[in-house]
Amino acid sequence: MTSKNIAVQIDNVVKRYGSVTALHGVSLDILENEFFTLLGPSGCGKTTLLRSIAGFEDVTAGTIQLKGKDITGQPPHQRPVNTVFQQYALFPHMTVTDNVMFGLLRSGWNKPEAVRRVHEVLELVQLSDFAERKPGQMSGGQQQRVALARALAPRPEVLLLDEPLSALDLKLRQAVRVELKALQRETGIAFIFVTHDQEEALTMSDRIAVMSSGRVQQIGTPREIYESPVNRFVADFIGETNLLDVDVQSVTDGMAQIVLPGGSAFSCPAAAVVDPGKGHLSVRPERITLCEAGAGNFNATVLGQVYLGTDIHLQVSLADEEKIDVRLQNSEATVVPETGSHIGLQLEAGAARLLAD
Ligand code: ATP
Repeated sequence: MTSKNIAVQIDNVVKRYGSVTALHGVSLDILENEFFTLLGPSGCGKTTLLRSIAGFEDVTAGTIQLKGKDITGQPPHQRPVNTVFQQYALFPHMTVTDNVMFGLLRSGWNKPEAVRRVHEVLELVQLSDFAERKPGQMSGGQQQRVALARALAPRPEVLLLDEPLSALDLKLRQAVRVELKALQRETGIAFIFVTHDQEEALTMSDRIAVMSSGRVQQIGTPREIYESPVNRFVADFIGETNLLDVDVQSVTDGMAQIVLPGGSAFSCPAAAVVDPGKGHLSVRPERITLCEAGAGNFNATVLGQVYLGTDIHLQVSLADEEKIDVRLQNSEATVVPETGSHIGLQLEAGAARLLAD
C-alpha cells in the first residue's frame, strides 16, 4: 500500500459526545477504487465514523485525509465526498431528473452540463426510462437507484453509503448487492459502506473493518476476516462459530498445541501470542466432519437435528457436556445420525483457531 493509492486516511480519530466516547482512536486507510465496509453491531461507532468522513460530525481528535489532503476541519459541502442515506431523502414532488439535477445546479453546474450529466448517471443506474417519474411511482429498489444517481452525479471522489439497503426486502436486497458492487467497479471510486449485516459485508466488500465499542477489531478481506479472525468478537460476529474453552500447552510461531475437551492433543493456528493455560478455540460448524465414535478428534453425543434444506444442523454434546453445532451439507448421500447416538467428530484443516479474548 503506498500513500499514492490511499483515497481516505483516517488517523487516530477520537469522537466524544459528552461522556460517551463513540470512537477511541480509529486509524485505517481506504484505497482508491475499493469497496470498503465498516461492519459492526448497533452502537459500535460505524455511523459516527462515516459522518466524520462526510463532515457532518467534528472529530474530537485525530485527522482525516482525502487523497493526501487534510480535510478534518472542512465543512461537508467542500469535501469531494457524497453520501447515500438509509432513507433516500428524495424530493417527492420532483421527477427523477429534477431530483438528480437539483444538487448539480445548486453547486454551480451550468444547465447544459447538468442535463448531460443527469442522462449519464441515469444510464449508469439503468433508470433512463424512469426519468420523468416521481419517486412515489417507483419501487423501493428504483428509488434507491435514484438516490445513488443523485449522489454520484457531482462526481465525488468517494461515495459514502449509510446502510442503504436496509429499507429493501430480502430478495431485492440480495439483487441490489450485486448491482451496487458492479456500480462501484464501473465508477472506479472508493465506496465506504456501513452495515451491521455480515452477509452483506462478506458478499460485496474488497475489505472490511470490523468494529465494536468504538474500536476497529480487525481489517481484512472477507476471506481473511472469516478464516482468520483475530479475536473472539470477530469470530463470533462473522459467520457462526463454536467457542470452546481449551487447555493451551504451548504456542510457537503462530501454532498452538492444545488439549481438546475429551483429552486428545491437537495442533492449530493461533491468532495471537496466547500464554499457556486456558484459551478459546473457535471451530466453524461447517468444517467438522462426522466419523465413527473413537476415530476423530472428539467423541460426541447427538442432541438433535434441524433440517434447513441446503444444510442440516446437528447439535452435539462433548465429553465435558459442552454443546457445539455441526453443519452438514445436505445431499442424497448425507447420513444424519439419530438423536442419542455416539459419534466421532473430525476437524478439517482450517476448522479451528486459537483466539485471544
Ligand atoms: P447503529 O447501527 O445503531 O446506527 P452505529 O454503530 O452506527 O450504530 P453510532 O451511531 O456511530 O453507532 O453510535 C456510536 C455511539 O455513539 C453510541 O453509543 C451512540 O449512542 C453514541 N452517539 C451517537 N450519536 C450521538 C449523539 N449525537 N449524541 C450522543 N451520543 C451519540
